[in-house]
Amino acid sequence: MEPDKARQRLLAERRDILQRRARLSVSFNDIVEAARDSNVDDEHDTEGTTIASERSMVSSLDREAAERVEGIGRALDRVAAGSYGRCLTCGGLISDGRLEARPDAEQCIDCAQQSSRR
Ligand SMILES: [Zn+2]
Repeated sequence: MEPDKARQRLLAERRDILQRRARLSVSFNDIVEAARDSNVDDEHDTEGTTIASERSMVSSLDREAAERVEGIGRALDRVAAGSYGRCLTCGGLISDGRLEARPDAEQCIDCAQQSSRR
């Protein structure tokens, strides 16, 4: 993959993730607001439970987004260093198809499958 094209893809991907993340925190705030406005039954604190589970879901999605953004940052470093598109494990080339689907991929498909099986 051309370095310029790779950089464009990575920047677009990062922008998407950051936008999704911003929307996520907005919708989570809505849930909290809605729960605060409604009269919560003290004995059966279902709203509180909903908020707790929403919060854990949002925070795990948020952590995932933060990890992707970090991975994209590392991929951009590799583009600058000229090592983009090389598997970090075996040094082989990562296929263009894989980079299209996952521009921040750090391993070729073989190594990725092996490490997910471990
Ligand atoms: Zn590999």
